[in-house]
Amino acid sequence: MASAEPQDDIGASGLTRKILVGMGAGLALGLALNAFGLAEAGYASQLIVQGLLHVGGAIFLASLKLLVVPLVLVSLVCGTAALDDISRLGRLGGRTMLLYLFTTAVAITLAITAAILIQPGAGFDLPTDVQFQGRVAPSLADTLIQIFPTNPIHAMAEGNMLQIIVFAVLFGLAMTMAGEAGARMLRFFEDANAVIMRLVGLLMRIAPIGVFCLIAKVFAEQGFEAFQPLLKYFFVVLGVLLLHGLGVYPALLTVLGRLDPVMFFRKMRSPQVVAFSTASSGATLPVTLRTAERRLGVDNRVASFTIPLGATINMDGTAIMQGVATVFISQAYGIDIGPGGYLMVVLTATLASIGTAGVPGVGLIMLAMVLRQVGLPVEGIGLIIGIDRLLDMVRTAVNITGDAAVTCIVAKGEGQLDAEIYADPNAGN
Ligand code: ASP
Repeated sequence: MASAEPQDDIGASGLTRKILVGMGAGLALGLALNAFGLAEAGYASQLIVQGLLHVGGAIFLASLKLLVVPLVLVSLVCGTAALDDISRLGRLGGRTMLLYLFTTAVAITLAITAAILIQPGAGFDLPTDVQFQGRVAPSLADTLIQIFPTNPIHAMAEGNMLQIIVFAVLFGLAMTMAGEAGARMLRFFEDANAVIMRLVGLLMRIAPIGVFCLIAKVFAEQGFEAFQPLLKYFFVVLGVLLLHGLGVYPALLTVLGRLDPVMFFRKMRSPQVVAFSTASSGATLPVTLRTAERRLGVDNRVASFTIPLGATINMDGTAIMQGVATVFISQAYGIDIGPGGYLMVVLTATLASIGTAGVPGVGLIMLAMVLRQVGLPVEGIGLIIGIDRLLDMVRTAVNITGDAAVTCIVAKGEGQLDAEIYADPNAGN
């Protein structure tokens, strides 16, 4: 169990505060560089933006990604092998999937409703030179088949999260059935898990600098002119993201989990900032998992399964962008897709999130699939692509918040949430 492992005593105290300072400083520097035009060609850009900030950010990202595959594999093998009751796995999987799908459907419904009411695309002066070729999204059948690995080494080399999850669960199950051999292997995996978790804590020490570099670079390079005609779209997406993040999750935590949402949000600040700066739920996974176990008190048996699964398939923030974008594009092109069309959007966008990795910008690729499904022009994506990066950052923070909220609710229902750790504001920080 995670809480039984030694505490991080490697200088991680006050990490959240340091990460927040890194974010604030990065924002200030980025906006200043942008305002003075220093991110454009020239020595300042070469040295600061493409040099220091780029290198610092890239190293931080690499160190996060480096942890993902070993962490998920080892942690999930441990989690599955430690299940005292195999039937629990089915119940756990069922409840988690149900909640993930439910929150995504709520998210996209909110988004469509807000966009229909506010009409961000009405009277839009459609540019005629829009050129965007959406990538072809895989079919549902392929998505399902590809969940099952043919070669676990290949799956790990590719970082294919769903395949790694399937392999780890099978391996862990086999360990529980393999008697003394399984017990010996479990001891090895438990030791490996403790070491990798320690590594996560170690690498988190560079998070404040990494977050600073990533955020400063994005804001230095962001072309704010692109926002002018799309302000309404931007704010509708942002508004629904905030509503979902700060309204729906607290309500679910309170009603379904009987958990204090204020404490939850307090502890989620580090992963949220990392998600915001990396725009990748996948890269944020080590931080989300560590927060769920060490700070929110979720047992490894639940978190090791629900967090990697959520980082891969549960993307409420992405669904919100897709909902607003679909309505926006239909309004901008003057094509009414009707109530049936909107229902189709809810279904497709909810299903589309399955099997799509949590990496920057992937939401737009999935959007192409949704638009095709309801017969809207895929070129419409070209209208919003210029301002997608900032929204991507915010929606990724919402995505991982959803993973952690569902994880806490499921863990509470399973009796796998340590109430003392949850209630302790300083636990694991
Ligand atoms: N960047 C998002 C994530 O990793 C996905 C997306 O909406 O593009 O969660």
